[in-house]
Amino acid sequence: MQSSFQHDVLIIGSGAAGLSVALNLPKHVKVAVLSKGALPSGSTLYAQGGIAAVLNDTEGDADTLESHIQDTLIAGVGLCHQDAVEFTVKHGKESIEWLISQGVDFTREDASTYHLTKEGGHSHRRVIHAADATGHEVSSSLCDKAIAADNIEIFENRVAIDLITHKKLFLPGNRCVGAYVLNDSSSEVELFRARFVVIATGGASKAYLYTSNPDGASGDGIAMAWRSGCRVANMEFNQFHPTCLYHPLAKSFLVTEAVRGEGGRLLLPDGQRFMHRFDKREELAPRDVVARAIDHEMKRLGADNLYLDISHKPAEFVKQHFPTIYERCLEFGIDITKQPIPVVPAAHYTCGGVITDKRGRSDVNQLYVVGEAAFTGLHGANRMASNSLLECLVYGRSAAQDIMSKLEDIPRPPEAPLWDASQVTDSDEDVVISHNWDELRRFMWDYVGIVRTNKRLQRAKHRIDVLHQEIVDFYSNYKVTNDLLELRNLMTIADLIICSAIQRKESRGLHYTLDYPEQLSVARDTILTPTNFSARDW
Ligand SMILES: Cc1cc2nc3c(=O)[nH]c(=O)nc-3n(C[C@H](O)[C@H](O)[C@H](O)COP(=O)(O)OP(=O)(O)OC[C@H]3O[C@@H](n4cnc5c(N)ncnc54)[C@H](O)[C@@H]3O)c2cc1C
Repeated sequence: MQSSFQHDVLIIGSGAAGLSVALNLPKHVKVAVLSKGALPSGSTLYAQGGIAAVLNDTEGDADTLESHIQDTLIAGVGLCHQDAVEFTVKHGKESIEWLISQGVDFTREDASTYHLTKEGGHSHRRVIHAADATGHEVSSSLCDKAIAADNIEIFENRVAIDLITHKKLFLPGNRCVGAYVLNDSSSEVELFRARFVVIATGGASKAYLYTSNPDGASGDGIAMAWRSGCRVANMEFNQFHPTCLYHPLAKSFLVTEAVRGEGGRLLLPDGQRFMHRFDKREELAPRDVVARAIDHEMKRLGADNLYLDISHKPAEFVKQHFPTIYERCLEFGIDITKQPIPVVPAAHYTCGGVITDKRGRSDVNQLYVVGEAAFTGLHGANRMASNSLLECLVYGRSAAQDIMSKLEDIPRPPEAPLWDASQVTDSDEDVVISHNWDELRRFMWDYVGIVRTNKRLQRAKHRIDVLHQEIVDFYSNYKVTNDLLELRNLMTIADLIICSAIQRKESRGLHYTLDYPEQLSVARDTILTPTNFSARDW
């Protein structure tokens, strides 16, 4: 017997965005929160730096809303939507106050003031943080509150497969009424119905071979929304962090930019420095310039990785300034006080996503998208550091308010059929999944990565078209598993990124192509619209 659930609001994702929606809904609203793994999960858990908001607007180095807005617009290279930037920045302070009311313990200057740091692109100290583990603190406080809330039911190890809409039920209108969800513990597919559905599934950086994101950042929500008829925008803007530890066992470990700030040198495999050939600021050039330079040298030399060396500094200095990196590298046999750190750039943040308005509403009625999965217009062509958690909080709250204002008017969801697995069998060749996973992420890295060309993009498009058929066949014939679902979603995401990148005939922000190195005079979003649905897609 398959399980079936009904709630007022179904929230897919338990990061900062999903839990912000859940905890901003009043106690009489019955909420379900799904998480792919354990409740604390997603990129939120890994966020280090902090959250940007104008908090210090009274003292000497007084920050202003206007300054935060301007910094964000400059970082976004002409593509930010001014209204979205203003909306986000203006709600910054109240979002931080809300987090504090939820028990988040930010690092303090003294008893009455919080410590604020300054990050790249910000002209003032405005990043509030909890030491160097802000995401962990935010996540654990919000998870504690969600667990304690009587109206919130938590479902762990649940992988949403696809949304259920009126269209798919052959009913009039296009309303979202639930989702089919794989219970990864029992392998059963469950039916979740709700009056409102919120996608808060995070980004899609797993589309690339190297990523700073945790497992699960496979763009599931973006792909599901796309299959349900939502438009997506600006998927070509993928932010890459320049230095991630390169080691077969070290998944997603970032080597902070502060290492370069403290004199760390980037080296080729033969020990030579190279940054002077790319920028007069050398290792202190901005993140995207450094990432491009590393990528260029790796491609030129066919090298698997380059090196970041801080071993010329006194060992005590290194250990004192970078205790976590020192410890972590030592676990892999690398003593950073004596030898260089092998590094590669890594996909870090998905600037594009499902098009939403200021209340998180998508193109499908009663379907909201918040957090990294959404495209609100805030980030433009390049995300400014620490604006992303802020976006999760601001839009999480406004989505909850919008849902509340409509709750009485939206009827209970209609009946929907249970998942039909009668035509599929257990897979006999899982190598098809692992091979295609690997192939997809590798060609995305090589052809659709930090530096693009028309030829590379066409090669990638050809590859994804071939993979598409193979993966759809596999999906149609075999029982769903988490790996298969992620692969299917990554295929959609890769296609969206490639098609968006092909459409942009200029270099702007994070999208850099050798064939169009100039920036066009008019900045336009790349908007993709789903035109047809494959029968099996639901
Ligand atoms: C290493 C690192 C450092 C960062 N540092 C900062 C920083 O200092 N400041 C900042 O502002 N931003 C930072 N970011 C970015 C920021 O952390 C993310 O943009 C933000 O946390 C995204 O939150 P989210 O709620 O949208 O998604 P996530 O936190 O990624 O959560 C996604 C949730 O969706 C669930 N999920 C996904 N797919 C499914 C599915 N199919 N079914 C069910 N559940 C699903 C996951 O289990 C998870 O619970 C950093 C990111 C990384 C990776």
